Amino acid sequence: MRRRLAAGNWKMHGARADLAEIDALMAAHPHPTVDLLICPPATLLHAAVERAAQHPLQIGAQDCHAAPSGAHTGDISAPMLADAGASAVILGHSERRADHAETSEAVCAKASAAQAAGLTAIICLGENLEEREAQATLDVIAEQLSASVPDTGNANNTVIAYEPCWAIGTGLTARPEQIGEVHDFIRAQLAARFGAGIAEGIRLLYGGSVKPANAAGIFAVPNVDGALVGGASLRAADFSPIITALS
Ligand code: PEP
Repeated sequence: MRRRLAAGNWKMHGARADLAEIDALMAAHPHPTVDLLICPPATLLHAAVERAAQHPLQIGAQDCHAAPSGAHTGDISAPMLADAGASAVILGHSERRADHAETSEAVCAKASAAQAAGLTAIICLGENLEEREAQATLDVIAEQLSASVPDTGNANNTVIAYEPCWAIGTGLTARPEQIGEVHDFIRAQLAARFGAGIAEGIRLLYGGSVKPANAAGIFAVPNVDGALVGGASLRAADFSPIITALS
Protein backbone atom coordinates (compact mmCIF):
# COMPACT_ATOMS: atom_id res chain seq x y z
CA MET A 1 0.00 0.00 0.00
CA ARG A 2 1.51 3.30 -1.08
CA ARG A 3 1.32 6.12 1.46
CA ARG A 4 0.21 9.29 -0.26
CA LEU A 5 2.54 12.27 -0.45
CA ALA A 6 1.87 16.01 -0.63
CA ALA A 7 5.08 17.76 -1.65
CA GLY A 8 5.46 21.52 -1.86
CA ASN A 9 8.00 23.11 -4.19
CA TRP A 10 8.66 26.65 -3.06
CA LYS A 11 10.93 27.27 -6.07
CA MET A 12 12.83 30.59 -5.74
CA HIS A 13 10.40 32.00 -3.20
CA GLY A 14 10.61 32.57 0.51
CA ALA A 15 12.49 34.32 3.26
CA ARG A 16 12.89 33.34 6.91
CA ALA A 17 9.61 35.02 7.85
CA ASP A 18 7.78 32.67 5.49
CA LEU A 19 8.76 29.67 7.61
CA ALA A 20 5.80 30.67 9.78
CA GLU A 21 3.73 28.98 7.05
CA ILE A 22 5.14 25.66 8.26
CA ASP A 23 3.74 26.23 11.73
CA ALA A 24 0.38 27.26 10.29
CA LEU A 25 0.31 24.17 8.07
CA MET A 26 1.16 21.83 10.90
CA ALA A 27 -1.37 23.47 13.20
CA ALA A 28 -3.98 22.49 10.61
CA HIS A 29 -2.55 18.95 10.21
CA PRO A 30 -1.06 17.88 13.55
CA HIS A 31 -1.52 14.16 12.78
CA PRO A 32 -1.42 13.83 9.00
CA THR A 33 -2.42 10.54 7.39
CA VAL A 34 -0.30 11.36 4.33
CA ASP A 35 3.39 12.17 4.05
CA LEU A 36 4.15 15.89 3.96
CA LEU A 37 7.22 17.44 2.38
CA ILE A 38 8.25 21.05 1.83
CA CYS A 39 11.14 21.89 -0.51
CA PRO A 40 12.23 25.46 0.22
CA PRO A 41 15.12 27.25 -1.48
CA ALA A 42 18.56 26.16 -0.25
CA THR A 43 18.96 29.32 1.84
CA LEU A 44 16.07 28.18 4.07
CA LEU A 45 16.93 24.49 4.23
CA HIS A 46 18.62 24.45 7.60
CA ALA A 47 16.08 26.74 9.27
CA ALA A 48 13.20 24.76 7.76
CA VAL A 49 14.65 21.50 9.07
CA GLU A 50 14.85 23.01 12.55
CA ARG A 51 11.28 24.30 12.27
CA ALA A 52 9.98 20.95 11.02
CA ALA A 53 11.73 18.97 13.75
CA GLN A 54 8.73 19.39 16.03
CA HIS A 55 6.32 18.24 13.32
CA PRO A 56 5.57 15.20 11.13
CA LEU A 57 6.95 17.10 8.15
CA GLN A 58 9.94 16.30 5.96
CA ILE A 59 12.11 18.93 4.30
CA GLY A 60 13.61 18.51 0.85
CA ALA A 61 15.77 20.37 -1.63
CA GLN A 62 15.16 21.42 -5.23
CA ASP A 63 18.34 20.19 -6.93
CA CYS A 64 21.74 18.66 -6.23
CA HIS A 65 25.04 18.12 -8.01
CA ALA A 66 25.95 14.63 -9.19
CA ALA A 67 29.36 14.70 -7.49
CA PRO A 68 29.74 14.36 -3.71
CA SER A 69 32.14 17.33 -3.51
CA GLY A 70 34.56 19.25 -5.66
CA ALA A 71 35.28 22.45 -7.57
CA HIS A 72 31.71 23.31 -8.55
CA THR A 73 31.12 26.87 -7.42
CA GLY A 74 27.53 27.55 -6.46
CA ASP A 75 26.45 23.91 -6.46
CA ILE A 76 25.35 21.75 -3.54
CA SER A 77 25.96 18.02 -3.31
CA ALA A 78 23.55 15.33 -2.19
CA PRO A 79 25.60 14.44 0.93
CA MET A 80 25.53 18.14 1.87
CA LEU A 81 21.74 18.16 1.60
CA ALA A 82 21.52 15.06 3.75
CA ASP A 83 23.89 16.66 6.25
CA ALA A 84 21.60 19.71 6.39
CA GLY A 85 18.69 17.44 7.29
CA ALA A 86 16.95 17.11 3.93
CA SER A 87 15.30 13.77 3.24
CA ALA A 88 14.44 14.27 -0.43
CA VAL A 89 15.44 16.29 -3.47
CA ILE A 90 13.44 17.32 -6.54
CA LEU A 91 15.37 16.49 -9.71
CA GLY A 92 14.74 17.18 -13.37
CA HIS A 93 12.06 19.78 -12.79
CA SER A 94 11.06 21.23 -16.17
CA GLU A 95 12.28 24.65 -15.05
CA ARG A 96 15.75 23.21 -14.48
CA ARG A 97 15.62 21.20 -17.71
CA ALA A 98 14.76 24.48 -19.49
CA ASP A 99 16.82 27.05 -17.54
CA HIS A 100 19.93 24.90 -17.11
CA ALA A 101 19.67 22.61 -20.14
CA GLU A 102 19.53 19.56 -17.88
CA THR A 103 19.32 16.34 -19.84
CA SER A 104 17.71 13.16 -18.61
CA GLU A 105 21.20 11.66 -18.36
CA ALA A 106 22.27 14.48 -16.03
CA VAL A 107 19.10 13.97 -13.99
CA CYS A 108 19.90 10.27 -13.72
CA ALA A 109 23.40 10.99 -12.42
CA LYS A 110 21.97 13.39 -9.84
CA ALA A 111 19.33 10.84 -8.82
CA SER A 112 22.03 8.19 -8.31
CA ALA A 113 23.96 10.62 -6.13
CA ALA A 114 20.83 11.48 -4.15
CA GLN A 115 19.98 7.83 -3.55
CA ALA A 116 23.56 7.06 -2.53
CA ALA A 117 23.32 9.88 0.04
CA GLY A 118 20.13 8.40 1.49
CA LEU A 119 17.79 10.93 -0.07
CA THR A 120 14.57 10.20 -1.93
CA ALA A 121 14.92 11.39 -5.52
CA ILE A 122 11.71 13.02 -6.75
CA ILE A 123 12.26 12.73 -10.49
CA CYS A 124 10.13 15.02 -12.67
CA LEU A 125 8.93 14.15 -16.17
CA GLY A 126 6.59 15.89 -18.53
CA GLU A 127 5.83 16.78 -22.11
CA ASN A 128 5.57 20.30 -23.48
CA LEU A 129 2.51 21.60 -25.31
CA GLU A 130 3.97 21.00 -28.75
CA GLU A 131 4.69 17.37 -27.86
CA ARG A 132 1.18 16.85 -26.49
CA GLU A 133 -0.41 18.38 -29.55
CA ALA A 134 1.75 16.12 -31.73
CA GLN A 135 0.42 13.15 -29.70
CA ALA A 136 3.96 12.36 -28.64
CA THR A 137 3.27 12.51 -24.90
CA LEU A 138 3.78 8.83 -24.11
CA ASP A 139 6.92 8.64 -26.27
CA VAL A 140 8.38 11.62 -24.40
CA ILE A 141 7.46 10.15 -21.03
CA ALA A 142 8.94 6.76 -21.96
CA GLU A 143 12.23 8.37 -23.02
CA GLN A 144 12.48 10.64 -19.96
CA LEU A 145 11.53 7.86 -17.56
CA SER A 146 13.98 5.39 -18.98
CA ALA A 147 16.88 7.87 -19.13
CA SER A 148 16.23 9.79 -15.88
CA VAL A 149 15.61 6.98 -13.40
CA PRO A 150 18.68 5.02 -12.27
CA ASP A 151 18.71 1.22 -12.14
CA THR A 152 18.89 1.52 -8.35
CA GLY A 153 15.36 2.97 -8.18
CA ASN A 154 12.97 1.47 -5.65
CA ALA A 155 9.98 2.44 -3.54
CA ASN A 156 12.11 3.93 -0.77
CA ASN A 157 14.48 6.06 -2.79
CA THR A 158 12.41 7.12 -5.81
CA VAL A 159 9.25 9.13 -6.42
CA ILE A 160 8.14 10.03 -9.95
CA ALA A 161 6.35 13.33 -10.57
CA TYR A 162 4.41 13.69 -13.81
CA GLU A 163 4.31 17.40 -14.54
CA PRO A 164 3.13 18.42 -18.01
CA CYS A 165 5.18 21.56 -18.76
CA TRP A 166 2.15 23.35 -20.16
CA ALA A 167 0.36 23.01 -16.81
CA ILE A 168 3.12 24.32 -14.54
CA GLY A 169 2.40 27.77 -13.17
CA THR A 170 -0.08 28.43 -15.96
CA GLY A 171 -3.37 27.74 -14.23
CA LEU A 172 -3.99 25.00 -16.81
CA THR A 173 -4.45 21.54 -15.34
CA ALA A 174 -4.39 18.26 -17.21
CA ARG A 175 -7.80 16.59 -17.35
CA PRO A 176 -8.26 13.52 -15.13
CA GLU A 177 -8.25 11.19 -18.14
CA GLN A 178 -4.99 12.75 -19.40
CA ILE A 179 -3.40 12.33 -15.98
CA GLY A 180 -4.71 8.77 -15.66
CA GLU A 181 -3.37 7.75 -19.06
CA VAL A 182 0.15 8.95 -18.23
CA HIS A 183 0.21 7.61 -14.68
CA ASP A 184 -1.00 4.17 -15.83
CA PHE A 185 1.67 4.26 -18.52
CA ILE A 186 4.42 5.18 -16.04
CA ARG A 187 3.35 2.38 -13.69
CA ALA A 188 3.44 -0.13 -16.56
CA GLN A 189 6.84 1.10 -17.74
CA LEU A 190 8.22 0.80 -14.20
CA ALA A 191 6.81 -2.73 -13.93
CA ALA A 192 8.44 -3.74 -17.22
CA ARG A 193 11.80 -2.42 -16.05
CA PHE A 194 11.88 -3.10 -12.30
CA GLY A 195 9.24 -5.82 -11.87
CA ALA A 196 5.72 -5.47 -10.55
CA GLY A 197 6.75 -5.59 -6.88
CA ILE A 198 9.01 -2.54 -7.05
CA ALA A 199 6.75 -0.70 -9.52
CA GLU A 200 3.74 -1.07 -7.24
CA GLY A 201 5.64 0.61 -4.40
CA ILE A 202 6.94 3.67 -6.25
CA ARG A 203 4.77 6.72 -5.69
CA LEU A 204 3.59 8.73 -8.67
CA LEU A 205 2.78 12.40 -8.09
CA TYR A 206 0.91 14.74 -10.37
CA GLY A 207 2.08 18.33 -10.64
CA GLY A 208 0.79 21.29 -12.61
CA SER A 209 -1.44 24.00 -11.18
CA VAL A 210 -2.85 21.79 -8.42
CA LYS A 211 -5.17 24.03 -6.38
CA PRO A 212 -7.72 23.52 -3.62
CA ALA A 213 -10.50 23.65 -6.23
CA ASN A 214 -9.14 20.85 -8.46
CA ALA A 215 -7.27 18.67 -5.96
CA ALA A 216 -10.05 16.19 -5.13
CA GLY A 217 -10.69 15.43 -8.81
CA ILE A 218 -6.99 14.83 -9.45
CA PHE A 219 -6.55 12.63 -6.38
CA ALA A 220 -9.49 10.45 -7.44
CA VAL A 221 -7.50 9.31 -10.50
CA PRO A 222 -6.10 5.78 -10.07
CA ASN A 223 -2.30 5.65 -9.79
CA VAL A 224 -2.11 9.23 -8.51
CA ASP A 225 -0.38 8.93 -5.14
CA GLY A 226 -0.15 12.60 -4.36
CA ALA A 227 0.96 15.91 -5.76
CA LEU A 228 3.98 18.09 -6.33
CA VAL A 229 2.58 21.56 -5.73
CA GLY A 230 4.28 24.82 -6.66
CA GLY A 231 2.42 28.08 -6.23
CA ALA A 232 -0.28 26.69 -3.96
CA SER A 233 2.30 25.32 -1.50
CA LEU A 234 3.60 28.76 -0.52
CA ARG A 235 0.74 29.61 1.81
CA ALA A 236 -0.71 27.23 4.37
CA ALA A 237 -4.18 28.53 3.54
CA ASP A 238 -3.80 27.12 0.01
CA PHE A 239 -1.76 23.99 0.72
CA SER A 240 -3.87 22.86 3.67
CA PRO A 241 -7.06 22.11 1.68
CA ILE A 242 -4.95 20.20 -0.88
CA ILE A 243 -3.59 18.04 1.95
CA THR A 244 -7.12 17.54 3.24
CA ALA A 245 -8.25 16.43 -0.23
CA LEU A 246 -5.42 13.89 -0.33
CA SER A 247 -6.07 12.54 3.18
C1 PEP B 1 5.88 22.75 -9.68
O1 PEP B 1 6.62 23.69 -9.40
O2 PEP B 1 6.35 21.61 -9.67
C2 PEP B 1 4.49 23.01 -10.02
C3 PEP B 1 3.73 22.02 -10.33
O3 PEP B 1 4.09 24.33 -9.98
P1 PEP B 1 2.56 24.88 -9.95
O4 PEP B 1 1.81 24.03 -8.94
O5 PEP B 1 2.67 26.29 -9.55
O6 PEP B 1 2.01 24.68 -11.33
